[in-house]
Amino acid sequence: MALLSIVLPAYNEEQNIANTSAVLSRLLEDNEIDYELIFISDGSGDGTFSEIRKASQANPRIRGAEFSRNFGKEAGIFAGLELSNGDAVIVMDCDLQHPPDVIPLMWKKWKDGAEVVEGIKSSRGRESLGYKLSAGLFYRIMSRLIKMDMNASSDFKLLDRKVVNVLLQLPERNTFFRALSFWAGFRTETVQYEVQERQFGESKWSFWSLMRYAITNATSFSTLPLQIVTVMGIISILFSVALAVQTLVKYLMGTAVEGFTTVILLILIIGGFLMLSLGIIGHYIARIYEEVKGRPKYIIRQVTDNVQGNVEGAWRKRN
Ligand code: UDP
Ligand code: MG
Repeated sequence: MALLSIVLPAYNEEQNIANTSAVLSRLLEDNEIDYELIFISDGSGDGTFSEIRKASQANPRIRGAEFSRNFGKEAGIFAGLELSNGDAVIVMDCDLQHPPDVIPLMWKKWKDGAEVVEGIKSSRGRESLGYKLSAGLFYRIMSRLIKMDMNASSDFKLLDRKVVNVLLQLPERNTFFRALSFWAGFRTETVQYEVQERQFGESKWSFWSLMRYAITNATSFSTLPLQIVTVMGIISILFSVALAVQTLVKYLMGTAVEGFTTVILLILIIGGFLMLSLGIIGHYIARIYEEVKGRPKYIIRQVTDNVQGNVEGAWRKRN
């Protein structure tokens, strides 16, 4: 019988673990799907991992690991993929905002031959205005830069084992899970879902963390910002040709002493362009530096007793 793994990254979600595992195991047992649940506690400061341990003692199909510190949701997803054994793997949030009722449908599409089943949001659920604005800006920037519609896509998706192995073999440290499944290709189907209200606790994203996420992901998926540097260079060249002509004409007409304003403006404009360009290039160099160091995506502090073998630095094994 085919095995379904569900990967659930959890950061300070002690209130959600017991409820989420109960809801998911009931649903999967009712649908007669052979399953395992993998919770990754992302360096939580609360009792998330002891809740995971408790759940795994009650139900051996539940396993989990805890990071040594907060490494971010991406790292959590990848650690979960690494620990999973399923023929198909579903990644979802552990606050049940991704409705579990969609799982049987994803499973059915997989059985019918789909290799990736994307969860597509039909609405974003109820969110505060500030969150809507920042998330909206975030997705607009992202969609532009990586030429994929990021607004409706989410981290809620099913991946076939083949696809999981492809993702686990990627050497890069800064990943963007949501877009990587598009990038990988494969036979893709979609499933619509309504974003639910969060069960317990509150959202872990602030405006700044979303912006940071946007910039990191944009630069890891696109080199367009570097090309903007070229565009700015061309604009300044056109500008300077026009001014050169003007200056020459004035010189020839014998009225060349004026133009102090022009000089100041030129210094300001060119200086601004230069510094902006250096900033963009610097950002890419920083990203290259991070990748070159080749540090692990995450560090595992402890695992539940039913996890086999040594998982520390497991991501390196495949490189
Ligand atoms: N999460 C995580 N590490 C983090 C932040 C969030 O593993 O640093 C998990 C979190 O526990 C949840 C999922 O990612 O399962 C989505 O987070 P959240 O619900 O806070 O985001 P939102 O649903 O508001 O976009
Ligand atoms: Mg949530």
